[in-house]
Amino acid sequence: MPLRPFRRDQGWLLPPSLDEMLPQDHPARFVDAVLEGLSDEEWDKLGMEMEGGPAGPPAYHPRALLGIWIYGFMTGTRSTRKLEAACRDQLSYAWLGAMARPDHNTLWRFWRAHRDDMRRLLPMTVHAAARMGLVELAFQAVDGTRVGASASRDRTLDEAGLRRLLARVEVELDALEAQNSTENEPPPPRLPEELTDKRALQRRVRDALEEVRREGGPKHANLTDPDARLLKIRGGYTTGYNAQAMVSPLKPGGMLITAVDVTNTPTDHPHLLPMIERAATNIAGTADTANAANTGGARVTLADAGYHSGPNLASCALAGHRVLMPEAQASKRKDPYHRTNFIHLEDQDAYLCPEGQLLSFKGLQNRPEKGYRARRYRAEAKVCAACPAFGVCTKSARGRVMYVTPGESLLREHRALMESEEARALYRKRKQTVEPVFGIVKEQMGARRFLLRGLANVNAEWSLLAAAFNLRSLGKIWSKRLINTTNRATAAA
Ligand code: SF4
Repeated sequence: MPLRPFRRDQGWLLPPSLDEMLPQDHPARFVDAVLEGLSDEEWDKLGMEMEGGPAGPPAYHPRALLGIWIYGFMTGTRSTRKLEAACRDQLSYAWLGAMARPDHNTLWRFWRAHRDDMRRLLPMTVHAAARMGLVELAFQAVDGTRVGASASRDRTLDEAGLRRLLARVEVELDALEAQNSTENEPPPPRLPEELTDKRALQRRVRDALEEVRREGGPKHANLTDPDARLLKIRGGYTTGYNAQAMVSPLKPGGMLITAVDVTNTPTDHPHLLPMIERAATNIAGTADTANAANTGGARVTLADAGYHSGPNLASCALAGHRVLMPEAQASKRKDPYHRTNFIHLEDQDAYLCPEGQLLSFKGLQNRPEKGYRARRYRAEAKVCAACPAFGVCTKSARGRVMYVTPGESLLREHRALMESEEARALYRKRKQTVEPVFGIVKEQMGARRFLLRGLANVNAEWSLLAAAFNLRSLGKIWSKRLINTTNRATAAA
């Protein structure tokens, strides 16, 4: 078999252009098409000047730098040094940046200057998809995932650990300071590096101690990223953040992230209503309002048991949002003496226990920690003492007590709803909607941990990851349509 010519110094009569070398359906072309389609107003919202200034050295075009960042996030290249190398080595980056070769400092400065405004990219992608009628509004699913912080787990300490570390640092600091001041020569104009580092560590440990001693504060603090928290994960703990995402299916297939947030709270339930409203805001205005029903977004939100609470049901009902979520401890309801098996007798304002005895209303009980007053019902002590279920239903010599929260009727209604076949069938879609998105973001886009530190930074990072995820999903649809159009044109020719 003859060999193809192997010559790098081959002269070309018509040199190949960069544009010819990148396939027409390449994702980098989709990123550029999206950026090209942004209006002046949208560039303003992103805080990017599209006209250069009259003086100074020429700067890289914002469309080139933004394209490089977005495409990097889409393909799992998020560090500035790796992006710098990619601009030098990879055809797709060279095409996207029109041969721009920014170094890592330039890329970092661009990120630092625009990271907050770049959070607007996510709503822009949601708007674009909704405008094209691609978003399925029948349901949406919300969930949170733990994303590791850019900080070592070993640097996360409790109060005792922090006190021990502070004592050790102070001893070392005293020794360094003594060494620095006993020398006969005048002190150097700058403190030795080791001393400066130790003082900075001492300050960080003191701040961390203050944080863990604060009433209601965390029990652990990380010395590298003070905003990160020790969070429970399967099989242990990680130092990281709780990254939230609301996901809607796309009609041609695939998923779209419609809202995100990153917090350092370990629980999901405070985020339900804000996430629904954020997603509705991002879709609103462009959504098909007939389908969007009264939520301004998807008709039903699917959430796991971590979001379930009476106050959440009440606030969603008040705002007109339909939510399907199971109870956290549904298995406990199998107990025949679980509170859910007590029947409310509205006319008597009492509850009937499974043994047919009455629990009468005894007054209101303040629950300041939960922000409401509960209604207290109690069975007669002597009735319970004589009951065959005594010891199982209650062990109290004063008889069984039940506290009923203001959202109790909603809880019961929701429980009945969750048992309907229709609700179960819809709820089964939750897992296949939101969980694959986290899988792709973490495994394919390489976001198992954040690269930046601090809540504001990781929020910007998560938001750009979500926008990049959406552009991956939309890019696949664009690419399929492009191939179909090309095939049709070829067939017609
Ligand atoms: S212990 Fe009291 S409340 Fe419980 S089942 Fe028996 S009578 Fe009813």
